[in-house]
Amino acid sequence: MRPLPVLLALLGLAGSAPADSPSRSELVELGHRCQQRAEQLRGIRAGKPIRWQVADRQQIRAYVLKVLERQYRPGELQAEGLTFRALDLLPADLEYDKFVVDLMTEQIGGVYDPVEEIFYLADWIPPGMQETIIVHEVTHALQDQAYGIDDFLERLRGNSDAMAARAAVVEGEATLVMLEDALRQAGTPLGLEQIELSLRGMQLMTLLSSIAFPSFARAPRALRQSLLFPYLQGLRFVVAARRRGGWKIMDRVYASLPASSEQVLHPEKYFDRPDPPTPIEQPGLPGLAGRDWRLVNSDVLGEFGMDLLLEQLPEQERRRAAAGWDGDRLWVFARGDLLAWVSLSVWDSPADAIQFAGALARTVRERRPGARAEPIGPTPRMVWRLPGDRVIWIERRRQRVAVVFALERAAARAIISDFFRAIIEK
Ligand SMILES: [Zn+2]
Repeated sequence: MRPLPVLLALLGLAGSAPADSPSRSELVELGHRCQQRAEQLRGIRAGKPIRWQVADRQQIRAYVLKVLERQYRPGELQAEGLTFRALDLLPADLEYDKFVVDLMTEQIGGVYDPVEEIFYLADWIPPGMQETIIVHEVTHALQDQAYGIDDFLERLRGNSDAMAARAAVVEGEATLVMLEDALRQAGTPLGLEQIELSLRGMQLMTLLSSIAFPSFARAPRALRQSLLFPYLQGLRFVVAARRRGGWKIMDRVYASLPASSEQVLHPEKYFDRPDPPTPIEQPGLPGLAGRDWRLVNSDVLGEFGMDLLLEQLPEQERRRAAAGWDGDRLWVFARGDLLAWVSLSVWDSPADAIQFAGALARTVRERRPGARAEPIGPTPRMVWRLPGDRVIWIERRRQRVAVVFALERAAARAIISDFFRAIIEK
């Protein structure tokens, strides 16, 4: 759910030994060379000088903190952690905000700051990797000069899904330029078609990176997947874009960014048969949760987030269940140590809605082993009883699915009937 301004272990960096520090003039020369290659590959000339500098671990950490402070208001990062936890995607004892800073600092090879218009190269990057990372970061600087990326990389409050889609454009493009440059330098240039094919082997990269980075390896699967999304899925998206209209098509992409992870995962839903997400607004919902429940977050999971939510299931099943997504909203509530959530979603067809509701139902036993299923009633409704009169309630009508997870039964009833009112009254 969180896009990170980092170039990570895409190429399996070892990331421990500091590089021999090159002299000032060597660095200038290095930057110049990389800039020319990136400009040529991407077909954009820098209109003004690109600033950059080498940074040590402490400076990178300070930068990470600065970015987080810029993007998150006080309490928002904790709310994001509570959201992951409410969805059973984080262990209860993980200190999310601290972990995020460690993870980001460790993963960084280089980072472009669109506000200050400068990029930093981590000083622990081995010499053989420096050029690759500089090419990636220079591409961000070129994007920024051509399209002004700082505006749309502002965190979108309440829609992490749209945010991940935007990050995927920016990171996918920089990663593709980087990859093409690395292949050329190695004397093995590949066409887009071949790159597309080789992307299927990306699982291997994920594996490599988890070996090379301790925090990354320790990170819960949902965090790792969120971290990789803009790079891997973004790369596939930008390859798909270029195969349709060369680099020129990116002008159009930047003018009208994909609005959901669905469009990134299925580029045809962006380019060929546009399928914009259905927004779900239910302003009265927080009031229905019941007294004492405090709303801690409201967000959009998107197709990618729905896939994460179903992590108890095998990959194929997860993918299929998430694939009919058309829109959703999630609300997370806290009362003392208790967490609960509500999700309202719309699917492409009733069959897609049935598939998702069924898939989620199959995760209940693992999420709450003590939950007791109640007999299925006359509507497509599944209810499990939890301690303290709380319930897990999944209900599907037409192509909509409502989920109330661990609120009291009366609240669940009110939320469900409110969401389906329009359908019931017809
Ligand atoms: Zn990047």
